[in-house]
Amino acid sequence: MKLEKVVIANRGEIALRILRACRQLGLKTVAVHSTADRDLQHVKLADESICIGPAAAKESYLNIPSIIAAAEATGASAIHPGYGFLSENADFAEMVEKSGFIFIGPTADTIRLMGDKVSAKRAMMKAGVPCVPGSDGALGDDIEENRRLANKIGYPIIIKAAGGGGGRGMRVVRSDAELEDAIALTRREADMFFNNPAVYMEKFLENPRHIEFQVLSDTHGNAIYLGERDCSMQRRNQKVLEEAPAPFISEEQRRMIGERCAKACVDIGYRGAGTFEFLYENGQFYFIEMNTRVQVEHPVTELITGIDIVREMIIVSAGAPLSYKQSDVHIKGHAIECRINAEDPKTFLPSPGKITYLNVPGGPGVRWDSHIYQGYAVPPHYDSLVGKLIVHDDDRELTIGRALGALDELVIEGIKTNIPLHKDLLTDPVEVKGGASIHYLEQKLGLVEEKKPEASEAKDSPKAPEKKKDAAPRASKAKTE
Ligand code: ADP
Repeated sequence: MKLEKVVIANRGEIALRILRACRQLGLKTVAVHSTADRDLQHVKLADESICIGPAAAKESYLNIPSIIAAAEATGASAIHPGYGFLSENADFAEMVEKSGFIFIGPTADTIRLMGDKVSAKRAMMKAGVPCVPGSDGALGDDIEENRRLANKIGYPIIIKAAGGGGGRGMRVVRSDAELEDAIALTRREADMFFNNPAVYMEKFLENPRHIEFQVLSDTHGNAIYLGERDCSMQRRNQKVLEEAPAPFISEEQRRMIGERCAKACVDIGYRGAGTFEFLYENGQFYFIEMNTRVQVEHPVTELITGIDIVREMIIVSAGAPLSYKQSDVHIKGHAIECRINAEDPKTFLPSPGKITYLNVPGGPGVRWDSHIYQGYAVPPHYDSLVGKLIVHDDDRELTIGRALGALDELVIEGIKTNIPLHKDLLTDPVEVKGGASIHYLEQKLGLVEEKKPEASEAKDSPKAPEKKKDAAPRASKAKTE
């Protein structure tokens, strides 16, 4: 099918990012939005716009029939889901294609395969991608067998829901005595939250970093990797600051893991942009999951490679080959992204409201991906991300300096933001050195005790109900961003 008009089934900065890519390609755009989002920039800039429902995401951005009806009514040829919302919902992808539209992302079958962590791990192992040691598939009910397995892997281990997402449905186990209850409890949760009682076991890594590989893959058997990003700076499973390349990762490691990720894409018939997420500890990479969509932090990779990831994912979805071969991909310099959230920098409580003054930073190597403007009111209904400040320079030190300068220039008044947190982080000696673990930020903020980074605590404590910002619903699970 020919690509002419694209429905942007998302909101905020990513909707604007998609609109920009479409415009450059000469494609017409349709913004679908909720009643709370009439004033978004991309709604004004799009060729057409349709209100698809009330503010509650369930009735608008997660409303599949409304989005498909909007595509039909406007004669669109494709739907871009962005991140969050329906982006990893296999049923949605299937419905889009069955209704005769192009889904800008992988096929429903691929989303399903990678959305089930047990099948995803199996597919990755087959492609030679290193995984966290663990059970071969879902756990059975034989407790003796499970104990044997846990001892073979070696405590601590983690029990995870096969259909889990958003940091939910996992529990750390440190001894035989806790194992039976932990499996039963996680199974019940998995059934309740994800409609899938299957759980599996893997080695719990105590102090890993989060490093992920960006891939692009077309329908002609070509797949390339665009290097990696370090996203270890997280609070309650939400990434706060990301950088590329990851500090202290050698060219050889990059090539070895990257080539395997690209091969895995070819093996599973992957289409579009995707991310392989790894935990990295003691020099080893361990695959944990794949995100089958564009990610919030894709711009750091765009800045170090010069490749427009959103544009590539659009063109390959329409059947065109990738514009680049692996030999065209060269990593240049360093990039850092600061996620700017409308939230109190100390309590992290959301801070919606009207932006009374905005000053956006500029100059060489500074990129501001954001939908906000002076006079815009941040609605209380959605994710608190109001912008991404992304900076680039020749090396990491220069990039940190550039980020600090740009953060000083960035002024957002009328709402509270986490700009002070970013300034603090980028002058923190551990962050400046590079290579901190996924627990560092919470330790620094005093949210967890040092040396006690238990996933179950971070995930299940009553004051931690937040979901990973760009984690998304899998299959039929509904979640916002
Ligand atoms: P989700 O899809 O819910 O985000 P992931 O599998 O990506 O689940 O895991 C979320 C987070 O949980 C990881 O970023 C990491 O912090 C922690 N985690 C998951 N598996 C392990 C493991 N084997 N060892 C240590 N931490 C883990």
